[in-house]
Amino acid sequence: MQERLETDYLVVGTGAVGMAFTDTLLDESNADVIIIDNHHQPGGHWNDAYSFVRLHQPSHFYGVASTPLGSMRIDESGHNKGYLELATGNEVQSYFEKVMRERFLPSGRVRYFPMSEWLSTEAGIAKFKNLLSGDIFEVAVKQKVVDTTYFKPQCLRGMCVAIR
Ligand SMILES: Cc1cc2nc3c(=O)[nH]c(=O)nc-3n(C[C@H](O)[C@H](O)[C@H](O)COP(=O)(O)OP(=O)(O)OC[C@H]3O[C@@H](n4cnc5c(N)ncnc54)[C@H](O)[C@@H]3O)c2cc1C
Repeated sequence: MQERLETDYLVVGTGAVGMAFTDTLLDESNADVIIIDNHHQPGGHWNDAYSFVRLHQPSHFYGVASTPLGSMRIDESGHNKGYLELATGNEVQSYFEKVMRERFLPSGRVRYFPMSEWLSTEAGIAKFKNLLSGDIFEVAVKQKVVDTTYFKPQCLRGMCVAIR
């Protein structure tokens, strides 16, 4: 089946970059957004990262502008004792899922297509495919296709590296 849609911005990727871009767009414009990702939930490569990985930086400085990650807690034990908390991979994933569910979708300006692969963009028409149904979507993009897959972190058996 083939479906036709129209939007101001098509954002490819629900990792930190696609989520932060969309978050700011909601505050700074009236634009509407279609956001797609080949994963089943937001969070980008954190869906694939090895389970014991945490942020390497304080949670408070990561994520989208509208919604703090963590609570500025100071760790009281372990190697990070005395410093601001570092979110676990699970915390990062649930944070981005919450931003999608509690901010993006209720705004009425964001349409989210998980498990969807961006195929191409030509002459303002982007194409993506739903990986479950095989349905192809054609999107007339009035402003821009925002490709946030630039760093292309790739994960094999849970080990992730950026290849650009
Ligand atoms: C293990 C690990 C720990 C890290 N820790 C930190 C840290 O502490 N602090 C920090 O600042 N950075 C950290 N980084 C760097 C990290 O890359 C960035 O913080 C950020 O998460 C990258 O987000 P992104 O949106 O650029 O990419 P991604 O998270 O990779 O998001 C891109 C998304 O686009 C999807 N995608 C790609 N191609 C397509 C397509 N054709 N169609 C549909 N979807 C597609 C991908 O599947 C992915 O979900 C870490 C990286 C790794 C690997």
